[in-house]
Amino acid sequence: METNEKFQVLLYYNYVHIEDPESFAAEHLKFCKELELKGRILVAQEGINGTVSGTVEQTNKYMEAMHNDPKFADMVFKVDEAEGHAFKKMHVRPRPELVTLRLEDDINPKETTGNYLSPQEFYEAMQDEDTVVLDARNDYEYDLGHFRGAIRPDIETFRDLPKWVRENKEKLEGKRVITYCTGGIRCEKFSGWLVKEGFEDVGQLHGGIVTYGKDSEVQGRLWDGQLYVFDERIAVPVNRTEHVVVGKDYFDGEPCERYVNCANPECNRQMLCSEENEHKYMRGCSHECRTSPRSMYVAEHNLSQEEIDARLERIEQEDGVTQS
Ligand SMILES: [Zn+2]
Repeated sequence: METNEKFQVLLYYNYVHIEDPESFAAEHLKFCKELELKGRILVAQEGINGTVSGTVEQTNKYMEAMHNDPKFADMVFKVDEAEGHAFKKMHVRPRPELVTLRLEDDINPKETTGNYLSPQEFYEAMQDEDTVVLDARNDYEYDLGHFRGAIRPDIETFRDLPKWVRENKEKLEGKRVITYCTGGIRCEKFSGWLVKEGFEDVGQLHGGIVTYGKDSEVQGRLWDGQLYVFDERIAVPVNRTEHVVVGKDYFDGEPCERYVNCANPECNRQMLCSEENEHKYMRGCSHECRTSPRSMYVAEHNLSQEEIDARLERIEQEDGVTQS
């Protein structure tokens, strides 16, 4: 499908009461399909969180229609230009919560949340010694890029963040704690939880990293690496003044920002990996995945059994192990 038309990717959320998420989601899906948008939208009683792509005309129509609904009249859309769709399909899904924090009492960000910091305020706060910068995302997001000096909580998913804070309280006590995430939605809840937990000075990056990267004053300063995004682009730039690579190749630890998925469809693990290592390791994250009869790498490259054996042998000789 060849087209010169410009596309846009929208990212947005709003904490607002939605009475019946099931029927709202069904209707909203119909509406999005009529507009020929693609993307992923979550709907819960506590609000909406979405990211969609479409032509400039389609996405503008969508934003206008949403803003005409009093529920979403003040909803902020982050808009990125794109060359085409950033998604393959259109999903609108009802969910019990927009973001899951595994809390005893859920947080309503409309009632309790950290102070909103503009990109400029956040940039200044980051350079203050008595401030701790906490990344409120998952580990694989942090690994591709993050604010310089930010703490990477040792967790696999956002859900485990409260537990981590309780176990690492001494790192945060007596400090100003500021948090950030991709578009701001996770921090609304997480910073609210920090306030409830007794931290006195809690701030959150308003509009998230996406907004920070677009700010004409700070220009993404103090961001290292790239921003992990949940669409087909995977990685987008943030810092417009310098580019420091922090991602590391899964196999040899060399600087790398190229994401691939493990060729074993049952694994599908996302890993940073150079082109050279992709071929050396047949895009398999482990010996098991490399020798999987379903390896997509083997199928794509039409490898013979001799060729597979030769590569496995080379890995064994160079790395000294068969299980990496
Ligand atoms: Zn694998």
